[in-house]
Amino acid sequence: MAPNQEYALLCLENPLLDIQGQGDDAMLEKYGLKANDAILAEEKHMGIYEDLLQNRDAKLIAGGAAQNTARGAQYILPPKSVIFIGCVGQDKYAQLLHERNDAAGLRAEYLTSTTHPTGRCGVVITGHHRSMVTDLAAANEYKISHLQSPEIWKLVEQARVYFVGGYHLTVSVPAILALAEEAAKENKIFIMSLSAPFIPQFFKEQLMQTSKYWDYIIGNETEARSWAEGQGHETRDVKEIARLVAELPKENGKRKRVVVFTQGTEETVVAVQGEKGVKEFGIKAIGKEEICDTTGAGDAFAGGFVAGIVEGKPLEECVDMGHWLARLSIKELGAQFPFPKQTY
Ligand code: ADP
Ligand code: MG
Ligand code: MG
Repeated sequence: MAPNQEYALLCLENPLLDIQGQGDDAMLEKYGLKANDAILAEEKHMGIYEDLLQNRDAKLIAGGAAQNTARGAQYILPPKSVIFIGCVGQDKYAQLLHERNDAAGLRAEYLTSTTHPTGRCGVVITGHHRSMVTDLAAANEYKISHLQSPEIWKLVEQARVYFVGGYHLTVSVPAILALAEEAAKENKIFIMSLSAPFIPQFFKEQLMQTSKYWDYIIGNETEARSWAEGQGHETRDVKEIARLVAELPKENGKRKRVVVFTQGTEETVVAVQGEKGVKEFGIKAIGKEEICDTTGAGDAFAGGFVAGIVEGKPLEECVDMGHWLARLSIKELGAQFPFPKQTY
């Protein structure tokens, strides 16, 4: 297949609008939040979005982890390389997402819910910490029938690489498995992310239904440890955990599984199925004064990494591209990237 074919990368997850504002300990306490966390909103959290907008001068930022990753990959790849799929509402937030995607050159093929509003992620910043509270709303209404409709499935068949954000495991496992099985059948590349500690903790059955299809699995150190704990492993050593994940059973024997765990400012750990030991790659350091916001650093890493995979780059270079894009995003609010464009 020609490497520069259009829309080589197809991403699936939850399209969200981030409502991000400065909080304080009182706000965290009011809503029962940890300073650094990502959770799904319960009834007691529903007031936080208006609270952020009315009282915390909150900014509206395109969000949703895999949507961030898709935008990041499109930032690096040639025009018309990336498609993002998910479900939004019929409202001004959906319009705003379309505007942001258009500006980034990302093609979104949304299913539109007529009954639910576009999903929101409240982001409470306290110092260098950020607490995320997601009200999935329309994002939770995604249906496999959309993915399998003739127009969308044509795009699935056209793509060579699929990226699914782990957050979608709470929404539509059948849709994820449809992509995963297609990838294994056609020897295409299937990439997933762990997304947040609660996924390997509370959605471990759903997660492990997809594990045999992972050609690449991306997570951070906390998610890795949460996976190990959820699977009953004693170890909390990120390198050992990477090895364990690499050797899980695999459907497509033509590709060795690659496990990639980032660790904030520490080295990124990479384990390859069938190889002894792990590789470690230093990040691209950034001065404290240059850090604007680390929200979405991992999403941006995945964007750079996946762009490298689409371009057929060697593994080391893919990791380096991930670090490069993460560094750019840290200098901006949320997972955004500087314009005029910088090139890797
Ligand atoms: P997540 O956002 O999922 O928690 P990480 O915190 O592991 O993901 O960050 C992903 C990548 O972003 C790191 O591998 C690194 O390249 C970059 N990064 C994150 N935090 C920093 C930081 N403070 N300084 C420089 N790079 C960072
Ligand atoms: Mg982190
Ligand atoms: Mg992350």
